[in-house]
Amino acid sequence: MLRNASADAMARGCSALGIAATDAPAALVSRDRAQPHWGERHACINCGTCHQGCRTGAKATTDTSWLPLAKAHGAEVRAECRVIDIERDGRGRVTGVVYVHRGERRRQSCGALFLCAGGIETPRLLLNLDLANSSGQVGRNFMAHVATQVWGRFDADMRMNRGYPSSLISEDMVRAAGVDHAGGYLIQSLGVLPVTLAANLARGAGLWGAALVDLLDDYNRLGGIGINGECLPSDANRLTLADETDAFGLHKARVDFSYGANERAIDAHARRTMTAIWEAAGARDILALDRSAHTIGTCRMGTDGDRAVVDRDGRSFDVDNLFICDNSVFPSALAANPALTIMALSLRTAERFLATRE
Ligand SMILES: Cc1cc2nc3c(=O)[nH]c(=O)nc-3n(C[C@H](O)[C@H](O)[C@H](O)COP(=O)(O)OP(=O)(O)OC[C@H]3O[C@@H](n4cnc5c(N)ncnc54)[C@H](O)[C@@H]3O)c2cc1C
Ligand code: SF4
Repeated sequence: MLRNASADAMARGCSALGIAATDAPAALVSRDRAQPHWGERHACINCGTCHQGCRTGAKATTDTSWLPLAKAHGAEVRAECRVIDIERDGRGRVTGVVYVHRGERRRQSCGALFLCAGGIETPRLLLNLDLANSSGQVGRNFMAHVATQVWGRFDADMRMNRGYPSSLISEDMVRAAGVDHAGGYLIQSLGVLPVTLAANLARGAGLWGAALVDLLDDYNRLGGIGINGECLPSDANRLTLADETDAFGLHKARVDFSYGANERAIDAHARRTMTAIWEAAGARDILALDRSAHTIGTCRMGTDGDRAVVDRDGRSFDVDNLFICDNSVFPSALAANPALTIMALSLRTAERFLATRE
C-alpha cells in the first residue's frame, strides 16, 4: 500500500526521535481478486474514502466476504429486522427470537442463539429482557479507547483526503518501559475528510466560528496522528437503562463513562509523544484534540460465572444455548483498533460451538 502524506510525516518524525514505525495491516486487496461467491474485487485505487465506503470492493467488509460465503452455505440474511424479544422455555433455554420487520412482528425459532448486536445494543437487550445477568455484570466495565489526536500545519501540500488513511503505525508505546501508567497505546497516522475533521476540532478542541474556519481553510496542508490507548475496566463506567423508551417500548441505553487516573496518564504521555513527533516532522501550530473511541466491554468473558457474563467459548453462564459474539465480551480494551480481534473471536466462538455439535 502507498502511504499518504500524514504517514510520510509520521515516518520522518519517528525516525528523527528513534521511534520504530511500520506499515499498518490493511484489510484490502492491492490487486484485482475474484472473491468466491461475490465477484470481482478491484485493486485499491488509493482514493481515501475507506471510512465512507469503498467503490472498488478493495476494502474487505462483511458484504464482500463473510455474508456471501455464509449465504453460499445455506444462511439466510434478513435485513431491516429488529429483535425485540428472546423467548425461553421453562428451563430458561432460548427457543426463538421475536423481531419487527417494517412494522410487522415476526418470530423465528432457534436451537441456539448468537447475540452479536455490539457493545451497546447487546447489553441493552439483555437488561431489558432481564436475561443472562445472574452475575450482575451485564452493562458493567464499559471501556472506550483513549483516542487523542494531534494535528498541525505543514508547509507542503498534505491533501489527507487522498490515499489509504491510516497507513503507518508505531507499537513502541504499547508496552513502553519506565512510564507512569499501566498498558499503553498504539500510534497511527490519520487521514479524514473535511466534515470529520471539523467535527473533531469542534468537539475535541472547542474550536468554533472564525478559528475553526481559519484552520479548515488550510485543510490541504493539515496532517494528523492519533492513538488507540488502553482503558482499564472500572465499576464507575457502565451502561444502564434510561427511563426513556424507544418505539418498541424498550428502555434506551444510558452510558456513564469518564477517564480514570490511568487513562489520564496515557493521554498526557501520548500528547507529549505525538507533539514531539509532529515537531520533528516539521509541523507548525500544533494542537491536541480530546477524543475517545470504540464501545468495548459490557458483557465480559471470564472463567467465573459470578464475575463474568460469558465463558471462554462465548457461551452465557446462565443460558447454555445463548452465545455472545461481539465487542461486548472483551474483558480488557487492548491498545489497538478492535475489529480484527472481534473477527478472530467470532471464528473462535464458531469453531468451539461447532465442536460441541460433532
Ligand atoms: C466511524 C467508525 C470508524 C471505525 N474505524 C475502525 C477501524 O479503522 N478499525 C477498527 O478495528 N475498528 C473501527 N471502528 C470500530 C468497529 O467498527 C467496531 O468496533 C465494530 O464494528 C464492532 O463490531 P460488533 O460486531 O461488536 O458490532 P457492530 O459492528 O456494531 O454490529 C452490530 C450489529 O447488530 C445490529 N443490531 C443491533 N441491535 C439489534 C437488534 N435489536 N436487532 C437486530 N440487529 C441489531 C446492528 O444494526 C449492527 O449491524 C470504527 C467505528 C466507527 C463508528
Ligand atoms: S483507499 Fe479505501 S476506499 Fe479507496 S479504493 Fe482503497 S480501500 Fe477502497
